[in-house]
Amino acid sequence: MVDATLVEDYHSRTSGTRHLVESPVLWDETLRDGEQTPGVHFSPEEKLQIAELLSDIGVSVLNAGIPVVSEKEARAVDLLAHAGLKAKVLAAARTVPDDVDAVIKSGASHIAIFVAASNVHLQYKLKMTQEEVLAASLKTVRQAKDAGLHVAFVTEDTVRAPFDFVERLYREVQAAGADRLVVSDTVGIMTPLTFRWYLEEFCRRVEPRDLSVHCHNDFGLATANTLTAMECGATAPHVCVNGLGERAGNASLEEVVLCLEALYGVHTGIKTEKLFELSQLVEELSGVPVAANKALVGYNAFSHEAGIHTHGILAHTLTYEPLQPEVVGRERHMILGKHTGKTAVVEKLKERGLTASDPLLVELLQHVKAETEARSKTDLRRFLMEYRRLFVRPGLSDEEFWTMVEAVGIRPVSA
Ligand code: MN
Repeated sequence: MVDATLVEDYHSRTSGTRHLVESPVLWDETLRDGEQTPGVHFSPEEKLQIAELLSDIGVSVLNAGIPVVSEKEARAVDLLAHAGLKAKVLAAARTVPDDVDAVIKSGASHIAIFVAASNVHLQYKLKMTQEEVLAASLKTVRQAKDAGLHVAFVTEDTVRAPFDFVERLYREVQAAGADRLVVSDTVGIMTPLTFRWYLEEFCRRVEPRDLSVHCHNDFGLATANTLTAMECGATAPHVCVNGLGERAGNASLEEVVLCLEALYGVHTGIKTEKLFELSQLVEELSGVPVAANKALVGYNAFSHEAGIHTHGILAHTLTYEPLQPEVVGRERHMILGKHTGKTAVVEKLKERGLTASDPLLVELLQHVKAETEARSKTDLRRFLMEYRRLFVRPGLSDEEFWTMVEAVGIRPVSA
């Protein structure tokens, strides 16, 4: 805990308006929504490697995937379900009996049954009426319950759907046995204030036994909205390592965990000191680089260069760091560069037991600044161009696709 004589803690003043559960159930979606990040795919063995670390770190539930997607995906779910993980293994299914059967067959103990709720999804995507959605939901929830599974019921686009329909649908699936209800902000349009209003209304009208949320990051609000949901009493937030996921991604595991732990003092049961290791493993296996300025796990998150900042940090880390890097398994880096000040150079010299007179320090500092200012950016720029080539449009190239079109014999119809 932070020394209260040095900094004020206003979080304690708002604790009366929060309804945080004592033991949150961290529900990881890295291997499902995270894998749906454009260009990302994990082999069954890679999924197992990530799942083992997630489980070891203390994640409660992990979504292994959707077995009906492919044979390989079914094998991955099966592999994780039988790996003896401490975390509960969940697999996802549409409100289609064959999907639910595939989950039952996989050996997963938990299922997430999902269907869309908003009018735009029903009319244009599912081409189903509300009555049809309700009937399919009830049928598959009962099917999964009869097989002894823990059932989470999820609607996509919950927060853009008519509330009367949401209320009726969730009430009925809960009565049919659904254990956990998931509200989704599928396109990330909620703000903390609106989401609070929505969830309070949802809790009043639906009375969920167990509330979970799925928040997307289209406006950069996924973590904030997830935290809001926790403040409203949600038990099982959906999270993804490094904030992976469709488009701009989902709420990030590390951000949600540290907000709860470091800001609100909630014991999440997560081994936070392993979060950086997990972040790097997922970065490597997904091939999606973590942004340098990403909270907690970005490479710059505990680096300091500017003179005023390094001076402050060297005097007391609390000046410019809200938490110690070791908490998330990291180290602090002092960067020598254009903005370096005298204190950092003095500190660096100490590494070899050296001290210097002021004129020599000034001279050394001039060299440090001049050298970094003169440094060529050619390599960095080349790397960035290559990075863009690989990432702006991952997946198959047009050339690869049109070659396949020819190979299967699709030809233009001649006039
Ligand atoms: Mn999603």
